[in-house]
Amino acid sequence: MSENNQNGLAITCVDARLHRYSITPQVAALLGVDNVYVRTLVGPESRILGGEQSVHLQSLRLSMTDLVPLKNIKKVAVIGHCDCAGHPVSDQQHEKDCVSVITVLREFFPELEFVPMIASEAETERPWNVRIIGS
Ligand SMILES: [Zn+2]
Repeated sequence: MSENNQNGLAITCVDARLHRYSITPQVAALLGVDNVYVRTLVGPESRILGGEQSVHLQSLRLSMTDLVPLKNIKKVAVIGHCDCAGHPVSDQQHEKDCVSVITVLREFFPELEFVPMIASEAETERPWNVRIIGS
């Protein structure tokens, strides 16, 4: 892997349906990067929005503090998904919560470009569809 490759980070759910047929090629295309590193949580929006004392938020911050300089990451996708058992809310609420997650993370990583995304189930056996929220 060339050192000139552009790397991004995806913060998304552990849900197997997102990873059976990986969503990362779509995320890379949407971020405009070559490679996407992945940090998963259960129902990420609910865990990250659990407040400053959230162990999940603290753990995510540590992971990002390690990874961002190590891989020269400049862009981060925050990806909610439909039908999430870990964060069982409407699709519209997922979209709002992804934007709220970015507000939280931007305080700690103001140098990064964050992009909110949502994944929805594909009709056939292929990766879920990922799009930028608001697009
Ligand atoms: Zn989920």
